[in-house]
Amino acid sequence: LDVRDPPVEAFLGRQIRIATEWAGEIDPLDLEEYRIRGGFSAAEKALKEWTPERIIEEVKQSGLRGRGGAGFPTGVKWEVVRKAQGTKKYVTCNGDEGDPGAFMDRMILESFPYRVIEGMLIAARAVGATEGIFYIRAEYPLAVERVREAIRRCEEAGILGDRILGTDHSFHVRVYGGAGAFVCGEETALIASLEGRRGMPRLRPPYPAEFGFAGQPTLVNNVETFALVPWIIRNGAARFAALGTATSKGTKVFALAGKVRRGGLIEVPMGITLREIVEQIGGGAQPGRRLKAVQVGGPSGGCIPESLFDTPVDYEALTATGAIMGSGGLIVLDDSDCMVDIARYFLRFTQDQSCGKCTLCRIGTRRMLDILDRICEGRAQPEDLPTLEDLSQTVKAGSICGLGKTAPNPVLTTLRYFREEYEAHIRGECPAGRCAPLIHYR
Ligand code: SF4
Repeated sequence: LDVRDPPVEAFLGRQIRIATEWAGEIDPLDLEEYRIRGGFSAAEKALKEWTPERIIEEVKQSGLRGRGGAGFPTGVKWEVVRKAQGTKKYVTCNGDEGDPGAFMDRMILESFPYRVIEGMLIAARAVGATEGIFYIRAEYPLAVERVREAIRRCEEAGILGDRILGTDHSFHVRVYGGAGAFVCGEETALIASLEGRRGMPRLRPPYPAEFGFAGQPTLVNNVETFALVPWIIRNGAARFAALGTATSKGTKVFALAGKVRRGGLIEVPMGITLREIVEQIGGGAQPGRRLKAVQVGGPSGGCIPESLFDTPVDYEALTATGAIMGSGGLIVLDDSDCMVDIARYFLRFTQDQSCGKCTLCRIGTRRMLDILDRICEGRAQPEDLPTLEDLSQTVKAGSICGLGKTAPNPVLTTLRYFREEYEAHIRGECPAGRCAPLIHYR
């Protein structure tokens, strides 16, 4: 280690491990070790002792909200699937992580495959599903391999399949490899992809909870959401709800990356401030540099300036800044980063990943990107800024899925907090010195 590195204790000190429990201590594929430490005891409780209603009530009491980004109450979603009518029900694990700088799902699937399977098993019991599907992007070959092997070992041990754990319940699980489209993280696109169709979102309602895979009630939850469930059932909802804020309970896993001295996968209690994450856990800026902002929530999120680093990690508090919690990407930026170029980078990603169904998402983001290119290249005029703002709001309002609705967020938040950088570019200057030469175009 570089002697200037922040101490490991500072990195680990504020972390609380629930989704990543036993990190660094457990062999990911050792089923025996997982069971000795209490693994699958929550599933046994759910299958043998508790009714589906009791499981749903416990999850509701815990305050768990979906960790994929939207933050919908998990117990409420489970209840809708439970009550939905269908000939068969499905539980789907959304592992189609694709945001630049995010690696939460990959690490959880690679390191704790049994925990996610156990979470799915408990969910299946709660909603009455007999089939589970992992949707994992194929760019995560180790995650796919480990989950497949974990399923095989669970089947061998009677934890998956028919008459599981000595009960009358059946639960069969398979893995489906996604082909790398970011939009397939949206649940209706994910289901279309699972059905062999092009991964395009559709208007909701009907929601997948009532009309999902093969037209049947389907529960779609994110990897981290499932990974939290066994701990909640084992330790009780109250212990989970004791962590966090009034409306955001438990812990959140983040991929801490960018211009910090120590990055990595972290799990922190909700309510911790961005400053504590960036300065204590991450060790602050690199020597000689100054922290400028953090991009929360990847391309769907937004840039929060250093002056707002005392904002707590809480769904509502982050939304109030103009960003969103998102699924857990945290990219730290310093004074060497150009905020206009950062906004352009994220917009280029979402523009590229737009499925093209909505005109405003398909063409509106293209026009926004044209303006950002002109600004970065020093060819823009002052009136381009209100046009960019106006177009951003129109794209948000006129897109049917989360990709289009949130694509303008990096642009809107940088315009809100770093407008002087946009204005400087229009004058032919890049304050961070990254977009030169500009004057060339004048
Ligand atoms: Fe496709 Fe964009 Fe419309 Fe979503 S908002 S359905 S990604 S065109």
